[in-house]
Amino acid sequence: MAIIGGGYSGLWTAYYLKTLAPDCAVCILEAEHCGFGASGRNGGWMMAALQGEQRFHHDQWGGDGAEVRQTILDILPEVERVLARERLECDYQRGGGLFAAARYPEQLEWQRQHLAALYSLGYDEADYRWLDSAELGARLRVAQPLGAIYTPHVARIQPAMLAFGLAAAVSRLGVTVYEQTPVVASSGETLTTPGGSMKAPVRVLAVEGFNSRFGDYRRRVLPVQSRIIATEPLTAGQWQELGLASGEVFSDASPVVTYGQRSADNRLVFGARGAYRFAGRPRSCFTGDREAFLEVRRLLLACLPQLQEVAVTHAWGGTLGIPRSGSPHAVLDPVSGFACLGGYSGEGVGASNLLARSLVDLILNRNSRLSRMPWCRRLPVSRALPRWEPEPLRWLGFRATSAVLGWQEAACAGGAPLWRRRLLGLAADRLNGLRDRD
Ligand SMILES: Cc1cc2nc3c(=O)[nH]c(=O)nc-3n(C[C@H](O)[C@H](O)[C@H](O)COP(=O)(O)OP(=O)(O)OC[C@H]3O[C@@H](n4cnc5c(N)ncnc54)[C@H](O)[C@@H]3O)c2cc1C
Repeated sequence: MAIIGGGYSGLWTAYYLKTLAPDCAVCILEAEHCGFGASGRNGGWMMAALQGEQRFHHDQWGGDGAEVRQTILDILPEVERVLARERLECDYQRGGGLFAAARYPEQLEWQRQHLAALYSLGYDEADYRWLDSAELGARLRVAQPLGAIYTPHVARIQPAMLAFGLAAAVSRLGVTVYEQTPVVASSGETLTTPGGSMKAPVRVLAVEGFNSRFGDYRRRVLPVQSRIIATEPLTAGQWQELGLASGEVFSDASPVVTYGQRSADNRLVFGARGAYRFAGRPRSCFTGDREAFLEVRRLLLACLPQLQEVAVTHAWGGTLGIPRSGSPHAVLDPVSGFACLGGYSGEGVGASNLLARSLVDLILNRNSRLSRMPWCRRLPVSRALPRWEPEPLRWLGFRATSAVLGWQEAACAGGAPLWRRRLLGLAADRLNGLRDRD
């Protein structure tokens, strides 16, 4: 079997294939090095959650919602078992997550709606609970601690360490990892690289946002960039002032999607979405993006003004993938042997483990709880996954949505008149509704 892509999706797939079927010959073909993509450069939130998971609990699936919830909540315990078994170091700390309203009143409404939506899926207070202003302030001294959702189902990791550790673990298990080996063409069972070609009865595409080369998959997942910064290490006194004493990760409810963590070496790492390049070209080098990184810093300071004098020592970015379906997938075409997984919408650190386990059960034809989950499809990709609109509509749609969300953020944060904030809120809901109509 051949896996294209050495990020978490490819590495976890190789890991479970080799664990469940040790005699199976597995190789990974990676264009650069394992962890080069989003897996080596993300914000390090490992969540027991799937973006868009409401689709799996409700209409599209007649199965048991409790089973879906439990399968999703099993992500962190499963990862913990593998980290211990394989002795993988990745600064893993399960300190939970804070989804805060930290700057303006609309955030409070959004977070309350989000919590109600989670409860409507059957999650309860043990999974997600409301923190009032004092409780939030005790955990993190944000600019305006209005309130927050707290969940214990998030861990902090150092992303590249996990990718490198998994690459070493699968090599120990007998997986052949070919780095600097981009797949440049694929036809039937044949995969072509600049150094030669190979045949594989099962081919797994695990490239997430790097899909512009792969004809049939290309328009199913939209490559979007996110940017991230890290401060210099902060002193114990500074952390005393800031909080996050239990290693919680945090986000500040915003149309521009923010995420932060306290790293093991005591930096504040903080990121925000996003950009899209015409025709879905991925991007891995972000030198020259000074203004965009300053914007990320401005957002960080708006949440945590105490960091005004603290130096930002690192800034980078990466490409993630947003599926047209709105939720992640594990797809196997049993006739052609083509498989793919991904579509995490920027939440793939934990989800890739679950989707890889699901895909492996499909490939090995195991009649398991996982292979019956609603994100699994035994179909050709063309029937399993909807497509984004052709260019230039994709590009225009992304630009329009980003502009409205940016105006909404600026209006709410800047205290614009209520009518303006409401109008932009309606426009943003309308655009999100258009995107979610499938
Ligand atoms: C800045 C940033 C912050 C993020 N923060 C978080 C977070 O905090 N929490 C979270 O859950 N998610 C986060 N994400 C998303 C998460 O990182 C991804 O969902 C996840 O890493 C996807 O893993 P993957 O293996 O599917 O894809 P990738 O890690 O992107 O791996 C794809 C691999 O395929 C290789 N490849 C590409 N083309 C070819 C080819 N032709 N032949 C062979 N190999 C090829 C690439 O080199 C790459 O290594 C973030 C993403 C970014 C960019």
